[in-house]
Amino acid sequence: MTITSDVRITDVCEVDAPECRSTRAAMHDYLNRRLPPDRENHLEVHLDGCAACIRAFIDIREVSWKRRAAAGTAAQDGSS
Ligand SMILES: [Zn+2]
Repeated sequence: MTITSDVRITDVCEVDAPECRSTRAAMHDYLNRRLPPDRENHLEVHLDGCAACIRAFIDIREVSWKRRAAAGTAAQDGSS
């Protein structure tokens, strides 16, 4: 094992990899289908191999669904 102990772990997730950061940053756009196809594919490939990111993705997706459901009912009120 060559894991250095000077890495500060602030959460259960390991967000050290730049790849993970960019993946998480793009997740909202991915859910809103705003990513170009090549970025979308890249994100999916990363999610496939990264347990921390897939977990984050599931969380974000759930929140997005709830928000969408809430927006659906709120839209009938005519509020912005
Ligand atoms: Zn990742």
